[in-house]
Amino acid sequence: MVSTAESRHHIETDSGQAGMTTINYRLSTDFYFQIKIKIDHHIHGAPWEYGWANYRRSVWNGWNNGCNIIGIAEHGPRLNHRVPFRSLYFADFDHYFNTIEEIRLEFQGHCDILTGFELDYHPDMVEHYREVLPQLPLDFVIGAVHSIEDWIVDNPVSLKNSSFKDADAYELYHIYFNAVREAAETGLFNFIAHPDMVKKALPHAGMKKPDNLSKLYRETADILKACDTGIEVNTRGLILSDVGEFYPDFEFLSACAQAEVPVTIGSDSHDSNRVGESFEEAVDFIRQAGYKKICYYKSRRITFVEI
Ligand SMILES: [Zn+2]
Ligand SMILES: [Zn+2]
Repeated sequence: MVSTAESRHHIETDSGQAGMTTINYRLSTDFYFQIKIKIDHHIHGAPWEYGWANYRRSVWNGWNNGCNIIGIAEHGPRLNHRVPFRSLYFADFDHYFNTIEEIRLEFQGHCDILTGFELDYHPDMVEHYREVLPQLPLDFVIGAVHSIEDWIVDNPVSLKNSSFKDADAYELYHIYFNAVREAAETGLFNFIAHPDMVKKALPHAGMKKPDNLSKLYRETADILKACDTGIEVNTRGLILSDVGEFYPDFEFLSACAQAEVPVTIGSDSHDSNRVGESFEEAVDFIRQAGYKKICYYKSRRITFVEI
């Protein structure tokens, strides 16, 4: 048994269940618990920046960091105004799926590699996704709202140059969450990435998070549940100076727990060293929000794991 903070990433095999590992953690809160998996359901390799070998490097680092399930979720082709695109092209698909398949075989028995995409929700793309996705060997598809019309949500200067420049924080939340709901209603996505990314735009516009979001959060959680669409706790928010906390915030996560919206965990790493980062803190956060299970998706079917 592992009992010190120094050994938090140690894994030992649970002899009772073949292929399943048991990990013990001691958190900063001195909260001690045992879980069956360490999962990072949202990593990137960004081959346009780091080369294709970055997928293998990332998985290797994640496995060294204790992960036994890793979901590769590269940005699928984008047909919006982003330049440079920072995403795969259609012509990359064969290379992408072959690369992941090779890594999956290499790590078989040690770490489950899940094949996915992170796709931008955009109304104009929905019919295209509907046609293409069933033909691809995907374990999961993440839906993400990175831009709405001419507003690139995570670009610090975009809001003030967009058609939403006069909206206040409360209105921006409603605009953003409306797009999240639409994404869920397409039924195309297993879960939604960084579901409250809107908060990243606020400090750049001199705004703070509104304190009257309960109704919006509750209604959105109900829609996610009705659409059988999950969410992730995305740990990347923690390292961003203009966010400084997980996506989503505790109140929305609690509303999702109440509505029984499935939740998983992703680092959203573009840097291979971040795979599996802050998983323990995310599990603690999820438990405090009221969940008893997290999930992962294989062959587009959900599996729950107790935490
Ligand atoms: Zn994203
Ligand atoms: Zn991502």
